[in-house]
Amino acid sequence: MSAATMDQAKAPAATALDYDAIVIGAGMSGMYQLIRLRELGLRARVFEAGTGVGGTWYWNRYPGARFDSESYSYGFSFDKELLQDWSWSEHFAPQPETLRYLNHVADRYDLKRDIQFRSPVAAAHYQDSSGTWAITLADGSRHTSRFLITGIGALSAPTLPRIEGVESFRGQAFHTAKWPHEPVDFAGKRVAVIGTGATGVQTIQEVAKTAGHLTVFQRTPNWCTPLHNRPITPEEQVQIKANYDDLFRRCRETFACFLHTADPRGTFEVTPEEREAFYEQLYASPGFGIWVGNFKDMLIDRAANKEISDFVARKIRQRVKDPKVAEMLIPKNHGFGTRRVPQETHYYEVYNQPNVTLVDSKATPIERITERGIKTTDAEFEFDIIIYATGFDALTGAFDRIDIRGKGGLALKQKWSGGAQTFVGMLVQDFPNMFMLLGPHTALGNIPRSIEYNVEWVTGLLRHMQQHQLTLAAAKPSAVQTWTDHVMSCAEGLLTFEVDSWMTGVNSNVEGKQTRTIARYAGSAPAYRAWCDDVAARGYQELDLS
Ligand code: NAP
Repeated sequence: MSAATMDQAKAPAATALDYDAIVIGAGMSGMYQLIRLRELGLRARVFEAGTGVGGTWYWNRYPGARFDSESYSYGFSFDKELLQDWSWSEHFAPQPETLRYLNHVADRYDLKRDIQFRSPVAAAHYQDSSGTWAITLADGSRHTSRFLITGIGALSAPTLPRIEGVESFRGQAFHTAKWPHEPVDFAGKRVAVIGTGATGVQTIQEVAKTAGHLTVFQRTPNWCTPLHNRPITPEEQVQIKANYDDLFRRCRETFACFLHTADPRGTFEVTPEEREAFYEQLYASPGFGIWVGNFKDMLIDRAANKEISDFVARKIRQRVKDPKVAEMLIPKNHGFGTRRVPQETHYYEVYNQPNVTLVDSKATPIERITERGIKTTDAEFEFDIIIYATGFDALTGAFDRIDIRGKGGLALKQKWSGGAQTFVGMLVQDFPNMFMLLGPHTALGNIPRSIEYNVEWVTGLLRHMQQHQLTLAAAKPSAVQTWTDHVMSCAEGLLTFEVDSWMTGVNSNVEGKQTRTIARYAGSAPAYRAWCDDVAARGYQELDLS
């Protein structure tokens, strides 16, 4: 008997279900979804692998981890009292503060009583005979529900490098997303960091403060720009709290739900002097303005992109004293903004410190991790600590790590083997009653804003089903095709999709993820919401409801 048939044989009658809805993950998605499920009067259970709430902010405790978008644009927006009750201390809050905030939210709503911690989900199988879901945890226990809602994140499946010997190192080794709960002391230690994405940059600038010697292994440099973080003054605090309505209205209106949005001018519609002055102003401003608030053609016009790339390259040359090191830090294979721009605080100056060395691991690749350190094609290094800032199997990776099966035992991994296919990033054909929060092909951007919208849309669908005594929702094939075609067309002409990165589904450390795919919706958040709102307003005609 196949696993799928076995499941069907054991399928419980719908009335005997353990829960109405099971949610995987107690990050921001799972937490907010739980609040809304309770409001619908549904019996809900959240299964969480960690020992606490917070998701991304629970796992990513690496030194220097903090927001890259303004704190007050990042928190939950749905509860006005909560907004007044919580005071962010910095414009870009550090990870421990965000984790405190999320625990505060969990306590405020008494969420933990419905969350089962230390409970990684191993499998989720749809039961054809009853139209329900059976969930198996890593400890083998089984739980059944009518609905399955995934809140497993887009960047939550960490990947170690596929380099020989990773297990053999005798010192301390950490992936940034699996950072220990106890502090790690770098004082006087020989430390290696592999990876220079947004995580690596935050880690490097912090570790360099105390490490005896820090060696950075950089395979591809990224274009990094200053974060300009600072404490929120008491006057600013009053202003922020008085203006939350406006602030979130702005987030709803902008392309990617940030406070920043593209300048309506084209790069060459202004004089060279005006252009330089604008770039200078953006470089001196906090946050993502230089990336998402730049000239409107920056990511579609090669000449426009070269202008801003040249500007940032000049900044790097000014900030890094050794011209050879500066050249190593300037990206040559992609233009500014075509990959996620890491936000930095004195990052480039780190390379002026005598205790920091930059190794070009494209020119001299890492051959193996040894008992004592790292061997490249050029040299052998000894370390006390190796930090892997090597990123994630993004967008689909967290789904691939759970044995998710839909109708007839069809594996989700198999379903998506030719690329993700969804309806509005929230439903998958042949996986009825499964709803994804932050699934592939949803609008990402300022993540909590996307989460809140996804949760509200799913909640609206569940309410509709309650009101019409419906128990089954499935995406129609034609709707999935239309949405997938739309996602593909949104990516056309964007320089971002000509570059390898997690945003184009490439991860050199994951089998089968060496070629670019379009797993990310590249249209605007308002357009995405308009599409989804329209589906709801017309009574979910794109779904088979029964
Ligand atoms: P990432 O951007 O994918 O960077 C991974 C790094 O590891 C890259 O530099 C990569 O080099 C390198 N690498 C991977 N495997 C390697 C190998 N075998 N040998 C040498 N180098 C290797 O991952 P990330 O930095 O964790 O960031 C992922 C995303 O998380 C960000 O883009 C951002 O969206 C999010 N994030 C957000 C924040 C925030 O909001 N505060 C902070 C951190 C991260 P290649 O480039 O050559 O592949």
